[in-house]
Amino acid sequence: MKIAANDPHLKSWIEVSPDSDFPIQNLPLGVYSNKLVKHRVCTAIGDQVVDLYALAELGYLDELGYGKEIFDAPVLNPLLSHGKTAMRKLRNHLSGLLRKDNDRLKTNAEHRSMALLPQNEVEMLLPVHVGDYTDFYSSIEHATNVGTMFRDPKNALLPNWRHLPVAYHGRSSSIVVSGVPVKRPMGQTRPEEEKPPVYGPSRLLDFELEMAFVTFDGKALGEPIACEEADEYIAGMLLFNDWSARDIQKWEYVPLGPFLAKNFASSISPWLVSLDALEPFRTAGPKQEPEVLPYLQYKGEKNIDINLEVAIAPEGGEESTVCRSNYKYMYWNMNQQLAHHTVNGCNVRCGDMMASGTISGKSPDSYGSMLEITWRGTKPVSLKDGSQRKFLQDGDTVIMRGHCSKDGVRVGFGEVRSLVLPASN
Ligand code: MN
Repeated sequence: MKIAANDPHLKSWIEVSPDSDFPIQNLPLGVYSNKLVKHRVCTAIGDQVVDLYALAELGYLDELGYGKEIFDAPVLNPLLSHGKTAMRKLRNHLSGLLRKDNDRLKTNAEHRSMALLPQNEVEMLLPVHVGDYTDFYSSIEHATNVGTMFRDPKNALLPNWRHLPVAYHGRSSSIVVSGVPVKRPMGQTRPEEEKPPVYGPSRLLDFELEMAFVTFDGKALGEPIACEEADEYIAGMLLFNDWSARDIQKWEYVPLGPFLAKNFASSISPWLVSLDALEPFRTAGPKQEPEVLPYLQYKGEKNIDINLEVAIAPEGGEESTVCRSNYKYMYWNMNQQLAHHTVNGCNVRCGDMMASGTISGKSPDSYGSMLEITWRGTKPVSLKDGSQRKFLQDGDTVIMRGHCSKDGVRVGFGEVRSLVLPASN
């Protein structure tokens, strides 16, 4: 299906620099706040935000038939509850209003001043009320690295790994937006194998480079979503940092999996980039061997070419890039993840969040966690200020960025940026 707003030739009357993540072909959704308004649904273009409530009040969205209150909501859920077709119409409509040859808003200075604000003058809020959050484990390179380090290099992947997208149910209450600091967790670890466990701050705090997708309302309880239908239930994607305390994780995870090592915080970027905007960047995924069961088979190109990077900035210092990866490396794609998640009849709801799992590539500079980059601390990385890191230190800021690029169009996610605070005993 051809999506009008994806035309690479479109230009906006708002100036967009070539390295901006937010050209007219993106038009992500977010929620901002400033001194004057508590929360407003908005989109981004160039270095501006466009207040959709202001547009609705001024009559620019009348054709879409929404009540304007959904643009005055603290989260995107009421808007997303209208589903895929309505979101596509909204994006196409906004694209029309912002394109160079449309004078309607462009020539009305008063209306422009009411609807447009510089991005650096607003605070972006957590965009979605996340009812349920699931974390997959879908990068074969990451799963192999972790299996090699913690279990057996000869049998790094457990027998189920190539047959189903492994996942666990995470914690949604501690999902925070970019800019919110994250406190080093306290907890129970067993640093010495022959001695009893101890209580204290985690000493092996790590990030995990992930992407997450947000769902529209799914089907009723008991009715699975098939692989070929999955796109209709995926609203969009954002950057996701799945903070992990490796020492807590190592001691607690058997036999039920991650718990306190993961649920103290997960950080997301503030812009929900629609799956529609990502369609031009589809690419083939890795070949799956052995062949998967019929309910996990899919047609077409379902991976997405998204360049990803992670940087660490020490307190008061400049940032150093520690990882460059790509979402296209994922062994299991979103369609398979959603099909598997619902195959037993589990229902998903509007605003649910499904994270990919750490996205590692084949080479060590593409590994998506400090655990892998420093190979469990045995190969520390050097930062530009001369200091070294095995894991994260208090005062470090972790920055994740992602963007797609093709045919002269760059569609990006902005960033998720989080300061690590000391533990409070
Ligand atoms: Mn994870």
